[in-house]
Amino acid sequence: MMLRSSRALLWFAFLLTHASACAKAPASCPPDEGVALQVLGSGGPIADDARASSAYLLWVDGKARVLIDAGGGSFLRFGEAGARFADLDFVGLSHFHTDHSADFPALLKSGNFSGRTRALAVAGPSGNSRFPGLIEYLSSMLDGDSGAYAYLNGYLDGSGRLVQLEPVEVDSSAAEPALVMDNADNGLQIHALGVPHGIVPAIAFRVTTGDLSFVFSSDQNMSGPGYAEFARDATALVVHMPIPDDAGDAAKSLHAVPSRIAETASAAKPQVLVVSHFMARSLRDPAQGVDVLQQHYSGEIVLAEDLSCIAP
Ligand SMILES: [Zn+2]
Repeated sequence: MMLRSSRALLWFAFLLTHASACAKAPASCPPDEGVALQVLGSGGPIADDARASSAYLLWVDGKARVLIDAGGGSFLRFGEAGARFADLDFVGLSHFHTDHSADFPALLKSGNFSGRTRALAVAGPSGNSRFPGLIEYLSSMLDGDSGAYAYLNGYLDGSGRLVQLEPVEVDSSAAEPALVMDNADNGLQIHALGVPHGIVPAIAFRVTTGDLSFVFSSDQNMSGPGYAEFARDATALVVHMPIPDDAGDAAKSLHAVPSRIAETASAAKPQVLVVSHFMARSLRDPAQGVDVLQQHYSGEIVLAEDLSCIAP
């Protein structure tokens, strides 16, 4: 393991002293066969944690089939992971904070050179008065007249040797999960559910392949009554834990504190809880969050690192 700073050294020392939290032997991605979850970005929105912002890949039989989120830095990690744009079956964008979506247009441009010929399904939340929905987000970038990246307009209409995106906008206020992909050819079934993240429309994803399910919580405060059920018995449940239990009310309206995450995980009972979305202050005092989590949750925990690989 390469340690990039004294802060990373502190984090490494913390991991060593919390070996029981990380008992699972590291897997290697991409796997030749089977399914594995790879973290592309385990960081938050501030460029001081030496991590990419939020992004996750699901590998199936050696190919990167599903990308969830594309925060800043994930463009680089996508390439480092050996993922190919041409292999993607689905991109899910949980919400339109930059640390979850800013590298998506860069990945689209990269895809221009991938030789891909088939359409690409993209799901994201509906909007409100403060945030765009998926359709408006894509138009703001790709519209041929007004888009910031109008030169990539072919992603909207399939022109210019670009593949058409197939957007699925999910009602982020709906109480029930929405089915956003059910594909017999690739064996992927994907549901999305609105989650509370302050005023920001946001959705979580549950990706099922065979008898395995991977749940990506997005940023959220975990006050939604149906969330533990949505995440129940997941093979891996990815949660974001950027704030401590004594955070202020504004932060708590956006994010779940460790004790709340523990409560949700205890109800959902995943095989492994993947804790991610760390910020510099989390790295300075990781015990503040993870110790609280472990006091209230006895299941297996993995602390995410960029490019870490988790196989069932
Ligand atoms: Zn957010």
